[in-house]
Amino acid sequence: MLITNIGTLVTNDPDLGTLRDAAILFEAGKVAWVGTKVPEGTSGDRLDAEGRALIPGFVDSHGHLVFAGDRAEEFAARMEGRPYTAGGIKTTVQATRAASDDELRANMHRLVGEALRSGTTTMETKSGYGLTVADEERSLRVADGLERTFLGAHVVPPEHDPDTYTDLVKGKMLDACAPHATWIDVFCEAGAFDGEQTRAILQAGIAKGLTPRVHANQLQHGPGIQLAVELQAASADHCTHVTDADIDALANSDTVATLLPGAEFSTRAQYPDARRLIDAGVQVALAADCNPGSSYTTNIPFCIAIAVREMRMTPDEAVRAATLGGAKALRRSDIGHLAPGARADAVLLEAPSHIHLAYRPGVPLVNTVFKDGVRA
Ligand SMILES: [Zn+2]
Repeated sequence: MLITNIGTLVTNDPDLGTLRDAAILFEAGKVAWVGTKVPEGTSGDRLDAEGRALIPGFVDSHGHLVFAGDRAEEFAARMEGRPYTAGGIKTTVQATRAASDDELRANMHRLVGEALRSGTTTMETKSGYGLTVADEERSLRVADGLERTFLGAHVVPPEHDPDTYTDLVKGKMLDACAPHATWIDVFCEAGAFDGEQTRAILQAGIAKGLTPRVHANQLQHGPGIQLAVELQAASADHCTHVTDADIDALANSDTVATLLPGAEFSTRAQYPDARRLIDAGVQVALAADCNPGSSYTTNIPFCIAIAVREMRMTPDEAVRAATLGGAKALRRSDIGHLAPGARADAVLLEAPSHIHLAYRPGVPLVNTVFKDGVRA
């Protein structure tokens, strides 16, 4: 397919790689050509973008999509003043354990479809609402086709004490889950897992061939970011409560800081300061953190709007973080950009430029989503 008359084409190659009055050619699911002068003799489908913008599909590198039930009442209570704590996860654990595989799969596909309609072409999901060997294993199994992260260390379930549960996670549970996952993650936070437990679990995962990512420094300052850098994690996620030393460590590493403003929005908490991270040279990704407790959204344009308004990112930075940033957090070079050879995952916006994603918050600006070069 040849798409012509693109008002603003964002390729992320190099920097934001913005082209005006551009065209792009998709062939066999990949980007075959990008430029301003349409090559002669191009056959196949043609689409006149009529001045609309085309950007890479969003890469949402942080989600919790395998669960049952919702927590609307808890959200309402929180908006009346009750604080968010890690303990609310247990409500979802009960509902998830009681659900069938088909129910979990159907709920996940509903969310993936919702995300696709708002421009997300790649998603990551974690386990973490099963918290038994069998329920964690099936949580990853039903998520086949997505980027998968083993998060047995989400919270300590009520039937265990922290030490015996940590042993279970890095023993039998990891053995059962590792074949179904690429990544391993730990919620390193007061009320969840401390630094020593986090390190032990991540090291066990590394020994099984998984690559670490860490829920770090979300609710208060802790050791999560330093551990993520030390263990060469692909990402440190949240990064809300950070010291200069944490920022230095991130800036001198390949670990991406994944910012999740939906969580701060939905828990009425302080946003991470993206400006401080970016100015220090930290690689930043934006993701939705879709989960039923603290961020029940799949909408990346919403996250971009918040990041620009509340986290001091420019529109260019926010769009890049939600596309190329997410790809880097998943260590993928085939997505998140539209250079020749990349997967033809792209979003045609009902707007002349990507800036409108932040400038027109809450407005459905997705005209057409392309996944592997085909209209999704
Ligand atoms: Zn999360």
